[in-house]
Amino acid sequence: MGKITGFLEFDRKIEDYAPVEERIKNYKEFTLPLKEDELKNQGARCMDCGVPFCHSGCPLGNLIPDFNDAVYKGKWEKAATILHSTNNFPEFTGRLCPAPCEEACVLGINEDPVSIENIEKNIVETAFSKGWITAQPPKTRTGKKVAVVGSGPAGLATAQQLNRAGHLVTVFERDAKIGGLLRYGIPDFKMEKNVIDRRLEVLKEEGIVFKTNTHIGVDIDANTLKADFDAVVLSGGATVRRNLPIKGADLKGVVQALDFLKQNNKRVDGITDLGEEIKATGKDVIVIGGGDTGSDCIGTSIRHGATSVSNFEIMSKSTPERPEDQPWPFWPMRLRTSSSHKEGAERFFSISTKEFVGDKDGNLKALITSEVEWIKTPGQRPSLKEVPGTEKEWKCDLVLLAMGFTGSEMTVAQQLGLEADSRTNIKATAKNYMTNVPGVFVAGDQRRGQSLIVWAISEGRQAAHHVDIYLTGSSTLPLKGEGDLPRL
Ligand SMILES: Cc1cc2nc3c(=O)[nH]c(=O)nc-3n(C[C@H](O)[C@H](O)[C@H](O)COP(=O)(O)OP(=O)(O)OC[C@H]3O[C@@H](n4cnc5c(N)ncnc54)[C@H](O)[C@@H]3O)c2cc1C
Ligand code: SF4
Repeated sequence: MGKITGFLEFDRKIEDYAPVEERIKNYKEFTLPLKEDELKNQGARCMDCGVPFCHSGCPLGNLIPDFNDAVYKGKWEKAATILHSTNNFPEFTGRLCPAPCEEACVLGINEDPVSIENIEKNIVETAFSKGWITAQPPKTRTGKKVAVVGSGPAGLATAQQLNRAGHLVTVFERDAKIGGLLRYGIPDFKMEKNVIDRRLEVLKEEGIVFKTNTHIGVDIDANTLKADFDAVVLSGGATVRRNLPIKGADLKGVVQALDFLKQNNKRVDGITDLGEEIKATGKDVIVIGGGDTGSDCIGTSIRHGATSVSNFEIMSKSTPERPEDQPWPFWPMRLRTSSSHKEGAERFFSISTKEFVGDKDGNLKALITSEVEWIKTPGQRPSLKEVPGTEKEWKCDLVLLAMGFTGSEMTVAQQLGLEADSRTNIKATAKNYMTNVPGVFVAGDQRRGQSLIVWAISEGRQAAHHVDIYLTGSSTLPLKGEGDLPRL
């Protein structure tokens, strides 16, 4: 695997970014690709460590040392085959995954880990540019019909797997275009939408039917859908946004992050009928929430031309290094600085918003915060305490609430009589992904709560295997880490 001495010869290298002043002028991706020789050297750093912990770090069980070795040897088509054997959409994860595999890389114990995510992206981009990714329709059809509700990464992975097993798959999506949060949450500067469209063409050619502008539970009763199909897979995401129910929350200028991001993605897509415009141009913007969504709001606000952008995080500031109590190979809670953070936002930690202040016309003009302390008591969850005398007023015209999602919407669940947990995640174990109603399955954020793209794809693949067993009694669709090598 790799080059025996590669990790001694070559330093880690990842894609650089275009300069801030250039990239904030538009919504295009701004990474600067590594050259082929540089990528081979990065593949060569993989050190054949015997027990590749990166496999278990990756929720898909990607066969990382194998594709690293193929890249080192310049065998790109082989690398693409290996990669697609466990991951339907490496072009999404290669751009957007937080790469838990790299935190689990054995080389990462005392050196910088292998640049796995960059290698993954370059393998799939090479495969698309060489025309190696083509439709793989099934040779025979089973005659069974499956409905997939929701077209995010979980729904798309489920659909591709089940279609390849020969079932007739229809994906229902209430939005106008396919992709879920890939399309309407994640900004184009992180992933341009032609990346989704390119893959969608392959899925359509394979025989998957897509029905957009169709809201299951509203346009079609979920029980009608269940009666019309042999199995139903719910992959509707965790779409219920967390609110901040404090004084002034209804002021004009207090906006949910996803409303802001979705409108902007549509604007970038050329859509002009957007309803009431939400723009950060010329405004003092405060983004509440320090995760991916908050970071995307920062990059978007800066591209709108905001006067200032501040980011509040209620958690205390971690260090960029791995904390001692979160040892390798686990995912550490370290300070992460995204490309958007580097575009000009100021970040504040251990800060809680107590009140929004408006003018006489109901427009937001400021907010009031307090500093907070996290009290750690052994054996208990840390608790939050306000620091007395730290109240502060901040001038702002736009507040973007990016505090995550509390669970999934319940209309379909109620129509079908599905059980959910206290956070409204639909109940189904990872044993077979089936809900309490036979023939109804659930995958992705709608089952596990707000999560990641890589987990959504993984859940979609796992669920498809179990749907296939439900429909036919057995399945050759691979489970996590079981590559199905011949297919791209
Ligand atoms: C702003 C933002 C940025 C993010 N950035 C990253 C990132 O960089 N990396 C990462 O790994 N993860 C990121 N995430 C998380 C990631 O996007 C999600 O975990 C992932 O998309 C979940 O996939 P899913 O298929 O389960 O659901 P979703 O992507 O949410 O898709 C669900 C789809 O189902 C549709 N739907 C719901 N109910 C119905 C119904 N009744 N009828 C028809 N259609 C329905 C919805 O319209 C939606 O299109 C981000 C999330 C957000 C909000
Ligand atoms: S999908 Fe994510 S975790 Fe898996 S190999 Fe790619 S970057 Fe790593």
